[in-house]
Amino acid sequence: MALTVEQQREAMRRVAAWRVDPERPVACPMCGKNGLVIVDRSARPHAEWYALACPACGLVETLHIPLGAVTPTLD
Ligand SMILES: [Zn+2]
Repeated sequence: MALTVEQQREAMRRVAAWRVDPERPVACPMCGKNGLVIVDRSARPHAEWYALACPACGLVETLHIPLGAVTPTLD
């Protein structure tokens, strides 16, 4: 199962919001249900990695955000 480019962009926005407010529930970019699990696996200062997992629909995805980029880019 993989996210579309649009869903990855949405996931990045949600990760950004989660970093600001980690206590808030995050909705899954695939199924839209709250409860998305985000694990920060970043290798700073080189890049940020986030593992996403959704218990509702089974989504498992890793987001890679290069540091220093004004706009996050996708691999
Ligand atoms: Zn989901």
